[in-house]
Amino acid sequence: MTAPLLDIENVHVVYESAILAVAGVSLSVQPGEIVALLGANGAGKSSLLRAVSNILHAKRGWIAHGAITFDGKPILGVPTSRLVRTGLVQVLEGRHCFLQLSVEENLIAGAIGKGASRAETRESIGHVYELFPTLAPKRRQAAGLLSGGQQQMLAIGRALMSRPRLLVLDEPSMGLAPLLVAEIFQSLDRLNRNEGLAILLAEQNAAVALRHAHRAVVLENGKISAAGSAAELRCRDDIRAAYLGLPPSQITLSAELTV
Ligand code: ATP
Repeated sequence: MTAPLLDIENVHVVYESAILAVAGVSLSVQPGEIVALLGANGAGKSSLLRAVSNILHAKRGWIAHGAITFDGKPILGVPTSRLVRTGLVQVLEGRHCFLQLSVEENLIAGAIGKGASRAETRESIGHVYELFPTLAPKRRQAAGLLSGGQQQMLAIGRALMSRPRLLVLDEPSMGLAPLLVAEIFQSLDRLNRNEGLAILLAEQNAAVALRHAHRAVVLENGKISAAGSAAELRCRDDIRAAYLGLPPSQITLSAELTV
């Protein structure tokens, strides 16, 4: 096994010195891997991602214990701007775009943190439009006029402008119609397959996440309750019942055989 790109070791996240949101979570993301973080509302998914990107302080939270390394180097306390330069970029929950700026200005803003040249920025913009063709004809339109799905594409596109090696995504499917969710996940798949981009994503939509991830970790009350390959977890009866709303796998199999 290669060295992990991201390694989270026994991390505890606390808010306001009292609320333990993440209680001793360890997980890793290998280069080129898609890892899904599953769990119900309040399970601790966003808190763990905020710990990775060092943005907990904005929510009055902090890492009480544990270690996180990116590419073998400790990153606890490393400013987010520096993490972006080293290739770790997060797309926050709720598809944050600069609503008054045009689509293309949003993309250009994404390249600033990396200190990209004009030519590199042009090339990256072209790359985003190739990945999300619906954005290209809207390049001069204000981001605030885009649909929710297009704003999510733009938020992902802006993150890609800094050419990350690890993309951290918080609930990319939230509030989007199934067709748009499918389109976004297909684009993520393409990025992963063609460019080897590693992805860590938090999702409440376990069905979609398990279809696209290589591995998944399930959080319950801030702790890992299950982990394994996506294929394994999809067959586990407890996961099927709790997160996929499906009957036990044997029943499905025999039902399928009788059809
Ligand atoms: P969701 O999908 O609803 O965002 P989640 O799995 O991402 O859920 P978190 O948002 O990480 O879960 O929340 C984990 C726990 O931490 C919850 O009990 C939540 O109430 C608490 N929490 C999250 N943010 C804060 C905050 N800023 N201040 C206090 N408690 C918080």
